[in-house]
Amino acid sequence: MKTHAKAIVIGGGVVGCSVLYHLAKAGWKDIILIERSELTSGSSWHAAGGFHTLNGDPNMAKLQAYTVGLYKELEELSGQSCSLHLTGGIMMADSSERMDFLRMTHARGRCLGMETELITPSEAKEMFPLMDETHFVGALWDPVEGHLDPSGTTHAYAKAAQVLGAEIELRNPVLEITQNSDGMWNVITKNGTISTEHVVNAGGLWAREVGRMVGLELPLLAMEHMYLLTDEMPEVIDFNSETGRELVGVIDFKGEIYTRQERNGLLLGTYEKACKPWSPINTPWDFGHELLQPDLDRITPSLEVGFKHFPAFEKAGIKQVINGPFTFSPDGNPLIGPVPGLTNYWSACAVMAGFSQGGGVGLALANWMVNDDPGFDVFAMDVARFGEWATLRYTNAKVRENYSKRFSISFPNEELPAARPQQTTPLYDIMLNENFAVMGDTWGLETPLWFAPSKKEAHDVLSFHRSNDFEHVASEVEAVRNSVGVTEISNFAKYEISGEDAEIFLDYLMTNNMPKLGQIILTPMLNENGKLIGDFTIAKEANNRFLLFGSLSATKYHMRWFEKHMPLYKSLKIKRYDMNLHGLSIVGPNARNVLQELVDEDISNLKFKFMCFRKMNVNGAPCMINRLSYSGDLGYEIWMAPEYQRKVYYGIKDKGSKFNIKDFGMRALLSMRLEKNFPSWFAELRPIYGPYESGMERFIKINKSKFIGQTAAKKELLNGPNICRTSFIIDADTSDAMGNEPIWAKTKKTYNLIDPPHKYGAHRYDADGNEISAANPQKKDGWQVVGWVTSGGYAHSIKASMAQGYIPADLSKITQKDMFEIEILGKRCPCQIVIAPPFDPSGRRMKS
Ligand SMILES: Cc1cc2nc3c(=O)[nH]c(=O)nc-3n(C[C@H](O)[C@H](O)[C@H](O)COP(=O)(O)OP(=O)(O)OC[C@H]3O[C@@H](n4cnc5c(N)ncnc54)[C@H](O)[C@@H]3O)c2cc1C
Repeated sequence: MKTHAKAIVIGGGVVGCSVLYHLAKAGWKDIILIERSELTSGSSWHAAGGFHTLNGDPNMAKLQAYTVGLYKELEELSGQSCSLHLTGGIMMADSSERMDFLRMTHARGRCLGMETELITPSEAKEMFPLMDETHFVGALWDPVEGHLDPSGTTHAYAKAAQVLGAEIELRNPVLEITQNSDGMWNVITKNGTISTEHVVNAGGLWAREVGRMVGLELPLLAMEHMYLLTDEMPEVIDFNSETGRELVGVIDFKGEIYTRQERNGLLLGTYEKACKPWSPINTPWDFGHELLQPDLDRITPSLEVGFKHFPAFEKAGIKQVINGPFTFSPDGNPLIGPVPGLTNYWSACAVMAGFSQGGGVGLALANWMVNDDPGFDVFAMDVARFGEWATLRYTNAKVRENYSKRFSISFPNEELPAARPQQTTPLYDIMLNENFAVMGDTWGLETPLWFAPSKKEAHDVLSFHRSNDFEHVASEVEAVRNSVGVTEISNFAKYEISGEDAEIFLDYLMTNNMPKLGQIILTPMLNENGKLIGDFTIAKEANNRFLLFGSLSATKYHMRWFEKHMPLYKSLKIKRYDMNLHGLSIVGPNARNVLQELVDEDISNLKFKFMCFRKMNVNGAPCMINRLSYSGDLGYEIWMAPEYQRKVYYGIKDKGSKFNIKDFGMRALLSMRLEKNFPSWFAELRPIYGPYESGMERFIKINKSKFIGQTAAKKELLNGPNICRTSFIIDADTSDAMGNEPIWAKTKKTYNLIDPPHKYGAHRYDADGNEISAANPQKKDGWQVVGWVTSGGYAHSIKASMAQGYIPADLSKITQKDMFEIEILGKRCPCQIVIAPPFDPSGRRMKS
């Protein structure tokens, strides 16, 4: 056995084999996959083998499109068949809400160059005659779906990797992992020890155990999953002989069922509500190629719906029931990337749809290992997206929720209840019981979204349209814009960066110049490719000490970046405040009047200017104050230790009462930032956009001393951005844009901004094996899809529906009417570009 390797991939399921293949394809030599038994000895061998491209997150959808397109390449290189059946698939809607969801999915698909189609129940029945179409109101057809042989596919990855020089060691469990002081890993196996630069955890069902070998508790859990195989069915055989085609795949959301043809019968699987975790704490090492005991009682409610919706199924005999476990993360997306706090330990775990996502996961991870960048926007599956709060029990509750809701409608205003509250601030009970807040979950923290008039009304009515919060958010915005409001802002990430090297460190990581003492700056952070990986507010608190405020959900993602660059600086300390620092923001024209009554010094505009920082006692409590607000109004962000938060809050409410101060929530804040054209992290600002594309030029000091991403940013500036962040006012009716809607333009010039999946190396084939053309399918009657929405909503003080999105730069200054449309829930709504912020364009209010 070898004693040294560049990289060791632990686990020979579909994911580990894909990572190995992509590392070999990227040119890495000396890479070994170690499998404790035979390939596919975890969840991969008994998968139902279904694959599809649609995903709620467009970045995930791109990686799925890549995966599906990869199989032909794998077959050619490996000589191993994947038994591909590209049948296409339909999603059935049984209600108007589900139809709204399908319309939204269809529209979002346009931004990815997908050719989905909304069809009637009778058209769906022609594709799948075994259904009783009277139970449905419509359907969505996706030609790029199908199924394959899971074992053949895993072996195809493995063989293709071997063709490219990678090695595979079977029947050799990894028992232990240690790390030397020089960073090299020792992977201790049954057959000996191998030292390696990189370790990839692709342990699937045992990923938690492989994580624990290095002191890591990965947030993932295996769930039992059942599917049935029927005997031969005459209806299936007749359809095949009459049409010469295989049946398409079907998802029936109402029954939580997926079904497709398997040989001459059907395969039918369920994502049942009464779901069951498997091995919640430890996965037994002696589990192998065996199945779990079927439990048909658990899936009976789904089967009963299935019998009604697909009557032929009730008559069919059941040949076999498969019950097998596979792993999920709390939000159902994979956990991939460099594990924060460890060097060269990579996660490729919790891939719940290995045959839709495995290729993309392998590609992104290999890019990351080889080029130091995943090459795509993979935040949705970054292992760094969960904090320490994602404990074993939290994960257990969230995974069960996620599994049982897999085929339920996700509404844009939906806050999922499982495992909540996980983290609360001292104001939590006051917000709930005195103020009737409807709370949301930000990175495990309870945060007020909006305030209802009574406890009874304090809940969201789930909808794709404007809902019961609308009028209350409107009145919160009105109070802020006309007088004053207070909101909790503990859901920011807060860090202290200190030491003699603090300033040069920040100067190197950030694009803006660092602030002078007592001042604040806003600054993006770029990666080496000049793409946005952060957006911070930085205050200089003292010499050699800075406070950073950023996105709470990106805390570990940002810490991983900081820690990567820290070793270059000797005298540097980074402190994560997390919930040791809480925040309140007072906003509105009377904000100063309220604060002045609570502090002992002059805070007139002359003494405490916009973008300044001060330490002050507020209502007698030691606080730090930033003079700014995301609402675009006069405002103060006040930071205090948790034990002072109630005191400060009550003080603000008391002194604010004569100005009719009102509590406002995140939804009002987001509405106010829209009418100021302010971007938001994770929506407009993501690692696929450049600083000039996103309109952040004010904060890029391109000629300052060297900073990460400077060369790429200079190039972007020199060539001019290709796309531009743009704000729109939309002539919408009862629904606002939510994100990922297509933006149409009436233009003769052809834009190829919307990548067909081919862009990602994916090739698509029809049922006869012919490649589907790469032409932009999203052109109609002189209109074409030229961009996508990143976020939207109702801007209450200007009383208009607004959205931001990206479109080609040469279109982004055209303000004429009848030129653009945004497709909301299947309806193309006229919209118009707004260049200056519609609310307070000069910024006078926040500065004076
Ligand atoms: C019933 C069922 C139906 C499914 N249907 C579908 C479907 O239709 N479509 C789809 O895309 N997905 C489906 N899945 C999910 C799919 O199976 C998983 O996404 C996929 O198998 C995950 O692969 P993996 O490589 O991450 O993990 P695994 O397949 O679990 O592989 C992990 C491997 O690591 C090895 N290993 C672990 N620890 C060690 C160690 N210490 N040393 C050496 N080797 C080790 C194991 O032996 C194993 O071979 C289904 C799953 C089930 C159970």
